[in-house]
Amino acid sequence: MSQVEAHLFHIDKVAIIGVGAVGATTAYAMLQAGSASEIVLVDLDRRRAEGEMMDLQHCLPFTEHAKLSVADLDEVEQCGLIIITAGAAQKPGESRLDLVQRNTRIYSGFFPLLSERNPDAAFMIVTNPVDVMTRVALKLSGLPARQVFGSGTVLDTARFRNLISQFFNILPRHVHTYVIGEHGDSEVLVWSRAMIGPFHISEYAEQRDLSLTPEVAERIEQDVRQAAYRIIERKGATHFAIGLATVRIAECLSLSQDSVLTLSRRMEGSYRLQNVCLSIPTLVSRHGAHTHFELDLSANERSALLRSAEIVDEVYQSLGLGD
Ligand code: NAD
Repeated sequence: MSQVEAHLFHIDKVAIIGVGAVGATTAYAMLQAGSASEIVLVDLDRRRAEGEMMDLQHCLPFTEHAKLSVADLDEVEQCGLIIITAGAAQKPGESRLDLVQRNTRIYSGFFPLLSERNPDAAFMIVTNPVDVMTRVALKLSGLPARQVFGSGTVLDTARFRNLISQFFNILPRHVHTYVIGEHGDSEVLVWSRAMIGPFHISEYAEQRDLSLTPEVAERIEQDVRQAAYRIIERKGATHFAIGLATVRIAECLSLSQDSVLTLSRRMEGSYRLQNVCLSIPTLVSRHGAHTHFELDLSANERSALLRSAEIVDEVYQSLGLGD
């Protein structure tokens, strides 16, 4: 039996570290989905975590049952899944990469103890910049890549699929493609592999007599890339879709069959990239985030992916933590 096959994650007990906009929405979405039997809320601001728990308790008559509690960081143990949203969030005009120093300091304060107390848990990093923070978490814990991964471009992929679905007036579930690379400004939208049902997107456009012009494609690209900035300018945070994305990832971690998700995971040779964490299609199951897939990309997409990797790697190297 291989090492991957030997380890199974059991996500009955889930801890959410950081119960701000994203953490609280994740807990709410988990309750509705019934994806955990126990949810532990942890926040530096304990009263806030208590308030969220009290509010969530009143959901229970309407949802699947789950035990809810508040804990301090050093009380978190025997969890199967730990979702980390703790840290500074983007303010209007800030990029995700601007947060790196602050959030690395925050992770250094708790990640070693958290991983030591929960050596068998899966750790899902949501804090931005998610690719760099995933690598920081790997470094601080020494755990393997299948166990420590980021939510990556699962959200960006949802945004991309949604915009294509709106253009073609078709349900998003029929649209298949990915956003890969950094969860951030240098991300790569994979148009060359975009499918609607069994049709390549250009073939589908032709059959429906719709013109997917370069201007339309550029507008979609900008809408995906700028989505977080535009929402944060208007309401201060993005949290609904990432809440559902984290629940989807958690559910995939409880299944015996594989799902393909663009999680941020340490690269182990795909596209000749090593060590840097970023998103490419990854197989996920109760064995963790265990296998990468190399997509056959256009030349432009490939060079954009390599550039994205360079950008994320440079930011990580600037922290001076070593590979
Ligand atoms: P928020 O400010 O509402 O919540 C952050 C919470 O973390 C706060 O409640 C704060 O008290 C807590 N916190 C800070 N330090 C802590 C520590 N040491 N221990 C425990 N709790 C601590 O922010 P938010 O809008 O919920 O965003 C959270 C993070 O998620 C940000 O980094 C944001 O950029 C990121 N985010 C990621 C994605 C994604 O797709 N990966 C999407 C949206 C937001």
